[in-house]
Amino acid sequence: MEGEFHSHLEEKVRPYIDLIDSLRLIGIEEDMSLPRIAVIGDQSSGKSSVLEALSGVALPRGSGIVTRCPLELKLRKIRGGVNWRAVISYKDEFIEFSDPSEVEGYVETAQNELAGEGVGICDDLITLEIMAPDVCDLTLIDLPGIARVPVKGQPEDIGHQIKNLILKYIEKNETINLVVVPCNVDIATTEALKMAQEVDPEGKRTLAILTKPDLVDMGTEKNILEIVRNQVIPLNKGYIIVKCRGQKQIDDGLSLTEATRVERDFFRSHEIFSCLLYEEKATVQCLSSKLTQDLVDHIKSSLPLLSEQIKKQLWDMRKGLSHCEAGPPLDPQKRKTFFIQTLTTFNDKINRLSSGEVVNNENLFVLLRTQFKKWKEHLDGTKESFHQTVQDVVKEYDLKHRGKELPGFSDYKVFEMVVQKCVSQLTAPATDTLRIIREIIENQFADVSKACFTNYPYLQSIAANKIDNIQSKQEAKVEQRIMEQFEMEQLVYTQDGIYFRTVNETQTTGATEDNFIVSQRLADQVPMLIRYFMLKESAQLLCSEMLGLMDGVNVNEALREESEAGRRRADIQNRVERLAVAQEKLNQFGSKDLLQN
Ligand code: GDP
Ligand code: MG
Repeated sequence: MEGEFHSHLEEKVRPYIDLIDSLRLIGIEEDMSLPRIAVIGDQSSGKSSVLEALSGVALPRGSGIVTRCPLELKLRKIRGGVNWRAVISYKDEFIEFSDPSEVEGYVETAQNELAGEGVGICDDLITLEIMAPDVCDLTLIDLPGIARVPVKGQPEDIGHQIKNLILKYIEKNETINLVVVPCNVDIATTEALKMAQEVDPEGKRTLAILTKPDLVDMGTEKNILEIVRNQVIPLNKGYIIVKCRGQKQIDDGLSLTEATRVERDFFRSHEIFSCLLYEEKATVQCLSSKLTQDLVDHIKSSLPLLSEQIKKQLWDMRKGLSHCEAGPPLDPQKRKTFFIQTLTTFNDKINRLSSGEVVNNENLFVLLRTQFKKWKEHLDGTKESFHQTVQDVVKEYDLKHRGKELPGFSDYKVFEMVVQKCVSQLTAPATDTLRIIREIIENQFADVSKACFTNYPYLQSIAANKIDNIQSKQEAKVEQRIMEQFEMEQLVYTQDGIYFRTVNETQTTGATEDNFIVSQRLADQVPMLIRYFMLKESAQLLCSEMLGLMDGVNVNEALREESEAGRRRADIQNRVERLAVAQEKLNQFGSKDLLQN
């Protein structure tokens, strides 16, 4: 009969537990809480003993604080004559072992590593997964016992620390709280029960376990009976009374299997408690099936909310993902194509920029025109001072060099000096214009690089280098050309009739000449040189050099993403994948569930 009940229960229970386990396995707990059972109680109330009895696994026990980190105990029933197997994992550790007697040692080592040796506690979770044929499918969390007074070596606020740690687990709506209370204390004043009632006032997810019934003070058995029957401090889920191994039985080497028999015998033969057996309120076995059923009910009632949460988060994440820029594909061939595309997009923008399209926020050509206009204005300004220069030079020549000639007679020597002086006055403004424009263009090129290679710092730095090199080279070239131009002006105008006349006219009449040709020519020539070499040719050089990267550069290196943006996208992508899998699992489960009922 009993076996049948259990296997029937198992059939109904297993899929729910598996569902939650599979969700846990894909890491959905990073996004939301999953149903689970936490064990709380005062120090030495018998928490570990209960867990031991449920799991059939000996856990570290003793007096004082023994459980110093939350310990997640995952019990998995394995069918088909498989041997006992366990895995303990914490931080980066992952240790498999097959000898049950090693559990205590491994848990202790883990605690020492996480919480340090001694009596400190730590929030980090240790997970102990046990696969065996004779356990029930449960996941339980053992928590440090509530301590009232710090012992030597513990901080003053240890009680506070432990309570906070416990609260973190029991306050979640998804957690069933197992409150362990020994029969030989004043149950009404138990701290653990108070805490559980605070976080779950309706007692929907609180189950109390009374331990040590063999230690009940003579004459108080009746009170205990009333409590177990839910007549004193009523809890929605009620009470279960269990008897575990006492210290002496452990010392005597009583096995857990034997303990189950001893427990049954104890209740059967108990004058007052024996009725609880038939009321299904006593023994570890009864606790185990009740817990399992509770957990399943709990899972069932949590599923709609869980499904809702997943749906909502998935929606949010997908929206978030659509705001992230697409990353490079992982497939090598596609990655190469993507790389070429990225370079081509860059080149295309640079070309469009150099032919006057507005690619960045500002219009490059407007910026250039502003500078060229300044240059022209400068030339116009010097035109006025030109007449003054001529007169100065002539006067100076008269004073220093005139021999037999008549005053004011113009010769080539004078012209040459005039032109030299004028031209030298123009050199600095011309190179200034060049320098300013180089800066403007360089900035615009860099903006294109930033826009096209947002997530690729490597490409950005390569582009920045190339831009700088090319612009330096081109600037030197333009400067050279401007100088040549000025030299040509000197040469041409000292032999030029118009110029000759202009100088003479200026000299004799002082009239201004509007069509002063040097000024006109320089006004066109300097901008033309700058625009051609600094923009047009620079753009061409840059494009061809960037395209050259296609062969030389390591694609993986080039497309290594700027960590922040890449990490953010990868994180969202992971979550989306995880949530989608979870949703799929829930959907499948839902339809199976419908078919079954
Ligand atoms: P924890 O600190 O809450 O984990 O408590 P433990 O499980 O370590 O138990 C504290 C002590 O109580 C141990 O010596 C156990 O052997 C003993 N103990 C636990 N349950 C019972 C019980 O039902 N009867 C008796 N006599 N002793 C028990
Ligand atoms: Mg313990």
